[in-house]
Amino acid sequence: MKHISDELKIIKRSGLYRELNIVEGTQGTHLEIKGKTYLSFCSNNYLGLANNPLVIKAVKDAVEKYGWGTGASMLVSGNMKLHEALEGEISRFKGKEASIVFPTGYMANIGTIYSLVSKGDLVICDKLNHASIIDGCRLSGADFRVYPHCDMEKLDNILKKSTKYPRKLIVTDTVFSMDGDIAPLPDIVRIAQKYKAMVMVDEAHGTGVFGEKGRGVVEHFNLSKKVGIIMGTLSKAVGSLGGYVSGDADLINFLRNKARPFMYTTALPPAVCAASIAGIKLIRKNPSLRKSLWNNMRYLKEKLDLLNLNVIPSESPIVPILIGDAEKAVDVSKFLYKKGILIPAIRPPTVPAKSSRLRMTVMSTHTRKDMERLLDVLRTVQNF
Ligand SMILES: *Cc1c(COP(=O)(O)O)cnc(C)c1O
Repeated sequence: MKHISDELKIIKRSGLYRELNIVEGTQGTHLEIKGKTYLSFCSNNYLGLANNPLVIKAVKDAVEKYGWGTGASMLVSGNMKLHEALEGEISRFKGKEASIVFPTGYMANIGTIYSLVSKGDLVICDKLNHASIIDGCRLSGADFRVYPHCDMEKLDNILKKSTKYPRKLIVTDTVFSMDGDIAPLPDIVRIAQKYKAMVMVDEAHGTGVFGEKGRGVVEHFNLSKKVGIIMGTLSKAVGSLGGYVSGDADLINFLRNKARPFMYTTALPPAVCAASIAGIKLIRKNPSLRKSLWNNMRYLKEKLDLLNLNVIPSESPIVPILIGDAEKAVDVSKFLYKKGILIPAIRPPTVPAKSSRLRMTVMSTHTRKDMERLLDVLRTVQNF
């Protein structure tokens, strides 16, 4: 096993070694680690729903009524009333005919992409798509092309030269998870129509955050009729766990019969579905959650602009500060940690080489005081 310790040494030497923190209390704007409280700006729990009292109550009620485990895959006997209810809730929320729920968003992406395309087909990705999309593309066996980030001319060019493929699929994040900008969806849809390609979007960071009703970036651009395959996760703004795909009934039945990460894995506990249903309901009924999220984000960005930091211009509550060098990013992150603020360094392979960064995320539950405290510490980082 010498090659394992050798490779570990290399990872450590290049500043790319990753270690786990243990969070001792609940998930919120403040986290307890080793008996100390840290102000967190790194969670995808955008609306604070991961620990919302109504979500917790829904989980407790569901455990009472349905117990905990499911004991089998969805297709055997794991599909319970709350799975059905959750899929219905997602379909109404997304304005689609049907939905399928996977245990995680990662599995939803892998299972869907390789069900839709295979050897002899073409799949096309934005350079900054999430790792689970990339893995799905690789597993599919389809020819795999990547266009530079949001470069629509390149996307058009790739498709122009691809008339020989029977099936073509374009996949994109709607909100890019490490940069926080949004995909030019109207252009992608237009180009896809021109070349008769399918479009699949990943609304992991769009759901609950964008759109008048919180349905996501597809709603923001008013494209729900034009995007056929909408994927998302229940693990971010919804505050729970699970991945889903929404679309027409044929697509969803097809995935139920084809997607191996759906067919060959145990169904989510029903109480997890109850948490997701409660989370989506809270998003639908409380636009004020979204409003405070966006107010917080605007406030923080305005103040950050006054500092001498390399803030990547984002369009979402994901606010990255570019550092560049991986080791330096770790040093800055450690400095913040000493000051009681938790923002881990994001390094390759999560982001391209030389673009290590501090990826901050704002929550609706952050107070002005929390943000002022962050800004005070960041002021001292300017001259780091
Ligand atoms: C987090 C994320 C996923 C994976 O979702 P999980 O439910 O955490 O497995 C997929 N795509 C994007 C863009 C993500 O940010």
